[in-house]
Amino acid sequence: MNLVLLGAPGAGKGTQAKIIMEKYGIPQISTGDMLREAVTKGTELGKKAREYMNQGKLVPDEIVVEIVRERLSQKDCEKGFILDGFPRTIAQAEALDRILEKMGKKINAVINVNVPEEEVIKRIVYRRTCKKCGAIYHLLYNPPKKESTCDKCGGELYQREDDREETVKERFRVYRKNTEPLIDYYKKRRIFFDVDGTKDVEGVKREVLNILEKIKR
Ligand code: ADP
Ligand code: ADP
Ligand code: ZN
Repeated sequence: MNLVLLGAPGAGKGTQAKIIMEKYGIPQISTGDMLREAVTKGTELGKKAREYMNQGKLVPDEIVVEIVRERLSQKDCEKGFILDGFPRTIAQAEALDRILEKMGKKINAVINVNVPEEEVIKRIVYRRTCKKCGAIYHLLYNPPKKESTCDKCGGELYQREDDREETVKERFRVYRKNTEPLIDYYKKRRIFFDVDGTKDVEGVKREVLNILEKIKR
């Protein structure tokens, strides 16, 4: 299964991607996670991406497209993959189509996690992420047992630098302008599915798994 998760920043894409990954054994490809890792390691890529990310802007298309092209060519993507946070522009979506076409593959479903802006801001501001294993928490909705420690691996939890209110506003503006048009782009192709992302994690999971069972048939 080749999947794309769409949705505003903080809608719950990463949370659902991890659930799908565990259930179906296909990798989550999060361009945000890959870029953050490059920034932490201080690689050339990280140096290029850092300023854009901290300002809530998109990293240029050429850069992210190359990361995804490389990642999709790896062996673990053969049985399928979950793109989380990519594509984010029409140009990226077109580049993805070309990459997949060359590989003789196509997207089976684009799942849009739908959550209104006010709610998403609450999700983002209280989001905490594990430095070690990437597990995602929420201080109110999905709190860790110990304030800044990961339940799964004992790693340290941190708040992303771009998850502060000022940057979140800009990320939203960028989402509306550049990413929302992808909804129509994919609707035209009958591979588009909307889920009600305002439900709790279990509720959203049920909707997502229903869609996946449907497309598997
Ligand atoms: P995205 O990958 O779309 O940016 P995340 O999966 O990181 O979103 O989720 C953003 C925040 O919202 C996290 O703190 C996460 O724990 C929380 N969250 C995710 N899904 C839900 C949900 N259905 N209900 C409440 N909180 C959620
Ligand atoms: P969220 O889901 O909360 O918006 P991500 O972790 O997906 O956050 O992305 C964090 C940041 O990484 C984005 O604000 C952007 O700067 C950069 N980024 C991630 N994916 C892309 C992409 N596909 N194109 C351009 N920039 C990206
Ligand atoms: Zn952890």
